Amino acid sequence: MIPVDNHLHTRLCGHAAGEIDEYLDVAARRGIKEVGFCDHLPLYFLPPDKTIPGYAMDESDLPDYISMIKNQALQAPLEVKMGIEADFVPGHEDKLENILASHRFDFITGAVHFIDGWGFDNPAELAEYAVRDIDTVYRQYFALIQQAALTGFFDIMAHPDLVKKFNFRPARDLRPLYEETARVFKNAGVCVEVNTAGLRYPVKEIYPGPELLEVFFKHGLPVTLGSDAHRPEDVGAGLPEAIELIKNIGYREVATFSGRQIRFVNI
Ligand SMILES: [Zn+2]
Ligand SMILES: [Zn+2]
Repeated sequence: MIPVDNHLHTRLCGHAAGEIDEYLDVAARRGIKEVGFCDHLPLYFLPPDKTIPGYAMDESDLPDYISMIKNQALQAPLEVKMGIEADFVPGHEDKLENILASHRFDFITGAVHFIDGWGFDNPAELAEYAVRDIDTVYRQYFALIQQAALTGFFDIMAHPDLVKKFNFRPARDLRPLYEETARVFKNAGVCVEVNTAGLRYPVKEIYPGPELLEVFFKHGLPVTLGSDAHRPEDVGAGLPEAIELIKNIGYREVATFSGRQIRFVNI
């Protein structure tokens, strides 16, 4: 039994496929009890005349996203929650706060996909790794997710070690950075997403990896589950492995969200 998949995208973002009812059909077929749609928030941090094609829905699409999901939720054979994956980009907090406050979400997931403008998880920007110092990239990435958590805007922190996606690994021991991040997350009161998309990318590992997840567990951080599906056939993908992983580490429950309130389901 899979209690929840809290990270489904929709075609509105421009790089996902399939209709919402198709995502829900797959979820029901795979015995998933609850899903949360979590599409990319419009690119609030760019000037109005700039965009990144195929990255996120337009701001004008946000009300449609919400009503599409609400309509489907009424007839769905499972619980459907309304979430959003919001990029954190320092210096644009006011804009972010405004856009988040203008809609009612069940949960808000914070994510870092940019290090000073570099889309480090975007295959089109992969060449940049060759000219960057990997230790520095990791330090910058973890500093950003800590800063994101401390804004208080987010219920969940998405794919906490996304920076490993293309399997560039630093020479230095990451343990102190993991410890620091867990302490900050705990103070910020966020939940951690155990995201299986990494299994589908070169790193071939769940985000967070076992070592980081152990540190999160030790610090008492709650976890939720997300497949990060960008097509219906990926709904729930890897979640049995994710549940196995978190159980092995000691977790006995996962978090779900309604109206920004956390609840726990046994696994
Ligand atoms: Zn996406
Ligand atoms: Zn993401």
